[in-house]
Amino acid sequence: MPGTNLTREEARTRADLLHVDAYDIELDLSSAREGGTFRSTTVVRFTATTPGATSFIDLVAPSVEEIVLNGERLDTAGFADSRIALPGLAAENELRVVADCAYTNTGEGLHRFVDPVDGETYLYTQFEVPDARRVFANFEQPDLKAAFTFTVTAPAGWSVVSNSPTPEPEGEGDTRVWRFAPTGRISSYITALIAGPYVGVFDAYENGEQKVPLGIYCRPSLREFLDAEAIFKVTKQGFDYFQEKFDFPYPFPKYDQLFVPEFNAGAMENAGAVTLRDQYVFRSKVTDAAYEARAATILHELAHMWFGNLVTMEWWNDLWLNESFATYAEAVCQAEAADSQWPNSWTTFANQMKTWAYRQDQLPSTHPIMADINDLEDVQVNFDGITYAKGASVLKQLVAYVGQDAFFEGVRAYFKRHAWGNTRLGDLLGALEEASGRDLKAWSAAWLETAGINVLRPALTLNTDGEIESFAVLQDAPALPAGAKGEAVLRPHRIAVGLYELTDGALVRTDRIELDVEGPRTEVPQLVGRHRPAVILLNDDDLSYAKVRLDEDSLAVVTEHLGGFTDALPRALCWASAWDMTRDGELAARDYLTLALSGLPRESDIGVVQSVQRQVKLALDAYADPAWREQGLARWAEAAEEALRASEPGSDHQLAWARTLAGVARTDGQLGLLAGLLDGTAEIPGLAVDTELRWTLLNRLAATGRADEAGIEAELARDNTAAGQEHAASCRAARPTIEAKAAAWASVVESDELTNYVQASVIGGFQQADQRALLAPYAEKYFAAVKGVWESRSHEISQQIVVGLYPALLVEQSTLDATDAWLASADPAPALRRQVVEARAGVERALKAQAADRAAAER
Ligand SMILES: [Zn+2]
Repeated sequence: MPGTNLTREEARTRADLLHVDAYDIELDLSSAREGGTFRSTTVVRFTATTPGATSFIDLVAPSVEEIVLNGERLDTAGFADSRIALPGLAAENELRVVADCAYTNTGEGLHRFVDPVDGETYLYTQFEVPDARRVFANFEQPDLKAAFTFTVTAPAGWSVVSNSPTPEPEGEGDTRVWRFAPTGRISSYITALIAGPYVGVFDAYENGEQKVPLGIYCRPSLREFLDAEAIFKVTKQGFDYFQEKFDFPYPFPKYDQLFVPEFNAGAMENAGAVTLRDQYVFRSKVTDAAYEARAATILHELAHMWFGNLVTMEWWNDLWLNESFATYAEAVCQAEAADSQWPNSWTTFANQMKTWAYRQDQLPSTHPIMADINDLEDVQVNFDGITYAKGASVLKQLVAYVGQDAFFEGVRAYFKRHAWGNTRLGDLLGALEEASGRDLKAWSAAWLETAGINVLRPALTLNTDGEIESFAVLQDAPALPAGAKGEAVLRPHRIAVGLYELTDGALVRTDRIELDVEGPRTEVPQLVGRHRPAVILLNDDDLSYAKVRLDEDSLAVVTEHLGGFTDALPRALCWASAWDMTRDGELAARDYLTLALSGLPRESDIGVVQSVQRQVKLALDAYADPAWREQGLARWAEAAEEALRASEPGSDHQLAWARTLAGVARTDGQLGLLAGLLDGTAEIPGLAVDTELRWTLLNRLAATGRADEAGIEAELARDNTAAGQEHAASCRAARPTIEAKAAAWASVVESDELTNYVQASVIGGFQQADQRALLAPYAEKYFAAVKGVWESRSHEISQQIVVGLYPALLVEQSTLDATDAWLASADPAPALRRQVVEARAGVERALKAQAADRAAAER
């Protein structure tokens, strides 16, 4: 269906021809409880620079009833391939389109959800990238901004929220009509409608004369868990911080945040009507890392109100700038806002964003931050670790390079100059050059137009007294992965070098030197003649984006004393370095386990603890020599149980270890403990075995054959909610039987009835690292089915299947061979090819790491 895949060229031609004034959109949602379709009527007024020219408007809908252009009724046959042809345009035009659009269950367009708790229907829209056209006819590209006026008919008693403040509904009987005021000039992808018996909590952000109404909404079944005060607090901190840094008042009339069901992403920055995944309303105990992540998401979306919504990219090739800026903004706000609960946000950034970016940047699909986005399919697979995490890391480096004051001065000028308009990267760089006085062309070429990661290593010599005789930072540019376009380059890096001394087991920074690294070797004369410290840490404070290696002596100290760093950030950097070495086969998986076992007991940052726990499991499942793997898993499970029993009662660490044990338990004793916690015959003091933990325990018991269908049904009876149904689906798919695997496979691949969330749960349950023999036959089935899935399902749904069901657990040459044979014969679309190539790279990397682990054992 090429019509849905708008190209950049088509968008440019259309933007040259048209100027859109306003849309009036009427949506009749009185059918919401039945589902099916709803009536959508759009009237759009626009001008054309070349009268007589032809263009088109986008619409994805089962049927069109009426097309009227400038008073003349057009044949509805003009609606084909998701576009409506617009022939013979006048200078000033009015188009009316009446269509029947479809409710979805994929999280794209107008998502419809029925809550099993109250039987009520809940709707919300999700339009980025190109799905407003599933709800109303529109020119679906970010640079054709317009004012949008929504009129909505919906059941009486519902909450109806859009970009403009919610008006008093009109009418009588079973339905009401909400007539919203027009929006400012915004892009179609940030328009929104959320409707259903959602419940709201209200407050206001007040600052002098300014008063912005705030609302937080969720389903009634989650209301008892909604901690609105905490959410308002973070939101207000963000308003204070961003308004001051951006020197531009919040640009929309109100700010609502809506927690919605079955949401595909973390959240979406609809202007003044942000939607967030409702797992962020915590039904059970979570660690502080989850609260921190939620706060980061809240701040990220708020930052988009200026960067993205007020000033918008012209085309999706600058999506990276939009996402990177918001990602940088969330971290800097948490680090600096008055009263911030998470001032260590740069540790989290190093731990999570950098890890994501480094991983993505070493895949064959890696690409420059400024990617070529030729059409919508290109952008839909580009919401990746380069676009969000590497881009944000490079913005952090840019701030170090030009200085934070100059950075924000440039940003302020940019907002003032381009408010309500569209921009390209050059507009921001120009403003930053003016503010900083630095020429950013070479910087931009090196950082934004090339792919790959540099490696920084120290090179030092000592004299006989143990003093440093020479010290240099060596920079290397490893070849890009096979298949990646472009060439590896050296870059300018602004970095800090941290010097740490070991005193009574504590590693304390005694000095910090900041410098510019250029080219393959940069001398650091400031270190010459000084006593060699215990640890020399390159890229301390994580200013730049690079892999860092330690010199041999520093590595020895860190291996023994990683937990001894008194600051969280250098610990996180050393953890990241060790993980990176493990992925690269420079550190054996078994040695990474040893390092984790020695370092974790002293790691206080819960986010880092949880990352390392996940990484250890991945190292054991994928990177360990299969001949030794079971020993490693047994040791990890034992350590998890010990740590669980030793943790402070009720602490986040205790919960994290409980979940880790639930993921790896294998002996009768360990599995018996899980069963005992579940049925109440065992107890760990302080550990609340609440709803979510119960499902985690049950999932492992199901996967190991210790819980059957009756056990799953019983748990579902206790928690018959949407989340409970998802967990139950996952437990069923996790069972170690041929029948369970077959049923799971069929429900996902051979049927399209599962919602996005249930499907994701089934896939998660299906893939069990301990069940390789049961899963082996599905490699062949995967390659037989994947192209058909891609061609017949929606983007989100097919991506879940393509990535989630790839035989990633079968780390064998035969998996690579089967992938290569499929790539050679199937002629997949570029976006599909990319996802399969990325999955293949994971198996290839795992094979190499297994060989390294085997070699380490033989040493
Ligand atoms: Zn974003």
